[in-house]
Amino acid sequence: MAGRCRVLTEAAATTPKRPGPRVVVIGAGAFGGWTALWLVRRGARVTLVDARAAGNIQASSGGETRVTRAVYGANAAAMRLAIRAMDLWKEEQSRLGVELYRERGVLWMTTTPDDSYLEAALPLLRAAARPFEEVTPRDAATRWPAMSFDDARRVVLEPMAGYLLARRASETVARQVAAEGGTVRQADVRPPALSDARPPGGTAAEPRLDAVTMHDGERLEADAFVFALGPWLGSFFPGLIGERVRPTRQELFTFATPPGDARFFDDALPTWADLGETLRYGIPGPAPTSGRGEDEARGMKFGDDARGPLFDPTAGDRTPSAEGEQFARAYLARRLPALKSPRLQSAQVCQYENTADNQYLIDRHPHAANVWIAGGGSGHGFKNGPAVGEMLAEMVLGGRVGDPAFALWRLA
Ligand SMILES: Cc1cc2nc3c(=O)[nH]c(=O)nc-3n(C[C@H](O)[C@H](O)[C@H](O)COP(=O)(O)OP(=O)(O)OC[C@H]3O[C@@H](n4cnc5c(N)ncnc54)[C@H](O)[C@@H]3O)c2cc1C
Repeated sequence: MAGRCRVLTEAAATTPKRPGPRVVVIGAGAFGGWTALWLVRRGARVTLVDARAAGNIQASSGGETRVTRAVYGANAAAMRLAIRAMDLWKEEQSRLGVELYRERGVLWMTTTPDDSYLEAALPLLRAAARPFEEVTPRDAATRWPAMSFDDARRVVLEPMAGYLLARRASETVARQVAAEGGTVRQADVRPPALSDARPPGGTAAEPRLDAVTMHDGERLEADAFVFALGPWLGSFFPGLIGERVRPTRQELFTFATPPGDARFFDDALPTWADLGETLRYGIPGPAPTSGRGEDEARGMKFGDDARGPLFDPTAGDRTPSAEGEQFARAYLARRLPALKSPRLQSAQVCQYENTADNQYLIDRHPHAANVWIAGGGSGHGFKNGPAVGEMLAEMVLGGRVGDPAFALWRLA
């Protein structure tokens, strides 16, 4: 018996390992970067190509920070995806020894009579054994004295949520793709020679794509291709996607907090989200003494989730508007009264890439069985990069069918 085992082991050792499929991933944002990393880890020979650097400021994944949370209203599937992603963020940061995720909690408050989003989320969190704590507005004002809860009807702390270091994460993931055997290239990829029309029926046809061409004419051949082009998906596939993924202009402002006022540091005040007429949110930065303020996350970042006007991610004007800044100042003066006339630290114009139902687009190209499309982050895609990448890598390698909630064909 022992001899037979040895023979088999020796045979296995001398059998050349079948090389994994060659996969080209175009787009090194949250979706493409993580997909590439998962593909490498599952044995594919991956080339990750981006026209710009990973984490570039024009990409939707650009900028310093992003909120992560499990609260997703009544959408249990979205909550599960977000929880899976949070676990993966934590695993990755301890594997690499690079801080990517600051688990400082998210403080939710409702400021209109409609609290259905939060109300629907709580039983789902309970069922998933995710901790949350309901706090009266009065107790909240004592616990987080920088913040006014005067108009809050309901306050809930989600302690395992927090914020991600976005640019650092995008750069780290791309670097890791290369470190684990993939290739990372900077090149502008041309649209592939595939029909761009929407065929009736919506099932993947037989033809396969052999190669993509880059701006200098070089061809990259592969067995499979993933196009994760964020806000560029619509213009890249104008017939197939076009306005089904609509980029909108979004502004972000970061203001200095009062010098030395520890109430504003992220270990004293969680990331917060005001479920009012629209979702408005803030991300406090770390204390200067934490040794973690090397990123731009110092100060109070403010964002409004309301969709701005349509925006061209390549040529759109990225000068922040005076009205946007004024609105941010007026809002913060109410919500964080000590921020009456704060110094503007930085301002950015970014873009969401929205689908009609704000769900992602993760599907096979209908004209080529070996081509995949990922995008439609709709203002909430970053946090889920690791889980979306895991799902898409399994789809590409053949072990998983796509989720109908993310199918191209649901977008009329
Ligand atoms: C202001 C703002 C706030 C947000 N807040 C949050 C938040 O708090 N939490 C959260 O989870 N999400 C948030 N999001 C959403 C999230 O950041 C996005 O959904 C996500 O980052 C999209 O990632 P992506 O990989 O699809 O696209 P991108 O990051 O845009 O990546 C696409 C990449 O494709 C490349 N590319 C395009 N065309 C080509 C080509 N022809 N050839 C080669 N490369 C090409 C681009 O250079 C780019 O790097 C926010 C977004 C914005 C703008």
